[in-house]
Amino acid sequence: MKIVRTVNELIAITDRLKQDHKTIGFVPTMGYLHEGHTTLMDKSKNYADVLIASIFVNPLQFGPDEDFERYPRNEERDQKIAEQHNVDILFLPTVEGMYPQDATIKLHVKRRTDVLCGKSRPGHFDGVATVLTKLFHLTKADFVFLGLKDAQQVAVVKGLIDDLNFPIKLIAVPTVREADGLAKSSRNVYLSERERKEATHLHQALRTGQQLIIDGEKNPVMIIEEVKKYLDRETNGKIDYVDLLSFPSLKQIDIIDQQIIIAVAVQFTKARLIDNLIISETGTVPKAIV
Ligand code: AMP
Repeated sequence: MKIVRTVNELIAITDRLKQDHKTIGFVPTMGYLHEGHTTLMDKSKNYADVLIASIFVNPLQFGPDEDFERYPRNEERDQKIAEQHNVDILFLPTVEGMYPQDATIKLHVKRRTDVLCGKSRPGHFDGVATVLTKLFHLTKADFVFLGLKDAQQVAVVKGLIDDLNFPIKLIAVPTVREADGLAKSSRNVYLSERERKEATHLHQALRTGQQLIIDGEKNPVMIIEEVKKYLDRETNGKIDYVDLLSFPSLKQIDIIDQQIIIAVAVQFTKARLIDNLIISETGTVPKAIV
């Protein structure tokens, strides 16, 4: 595995790969790697000749009161994990390397961001779109692997790729979970023992909503209320949102008659956790989501 720290070195390497007609798979991450990330890495070999992964805690996608400074980092451990999962090139840029000057261009995501995390985290997806636009150019990726744990990110990046004509295929990978259903996340290390036990109920709450749909409930308001009630009862965390929207268009709907997402965000003492389920109008899990 080759470690690359500068933009110019990465450009030189990917130029060469493209001259040699290699296809490139790309897994962008913020590091502190876990099985969610490595599942994305493992997918790449079915699609591309070469796998590039990046680890970059992108300041542009954090709000002023968010956890940019204390986001967990462990480069040495991450390098070992990436190597074990057949990463060919690990890109570890610095903030100055990625953003050397005050930017001339600002990307703004204008759809699919007035709900869920986009609503709670203003500017977050502008930061995601900016860094991914840069990383798509630098890596010259043919395939990008993103996790459905961050389903709104998948929806926004699909818009980015389509609108700006990136010649990249987005592969959306189902959420990887702990045995008790908790979605794997770098932020789980910040849960207290009690919160870790409670956190399993995010998934259980979503499953409650799914069951209502399987049982024939078509009214989103009813399902949102039941999921909220469940979370209120089972966790001490502060509910940031519970919503049910069309997916991937992320629009409010009056009746469940298409593929939807039920999504939750709960703020615990030191970690804000998100989770979701994407399901068909009858409550089943679809095979191909975007
Ligand atoms: P992050 O490092 O949190 O920015 O995540 C990098 C990529 O890994 C994103 O595409 C995430 O959606 C994906 N990811 C994170 N956690 C999981 C998970 N539990 N299951 C599947 N993908 C995940």
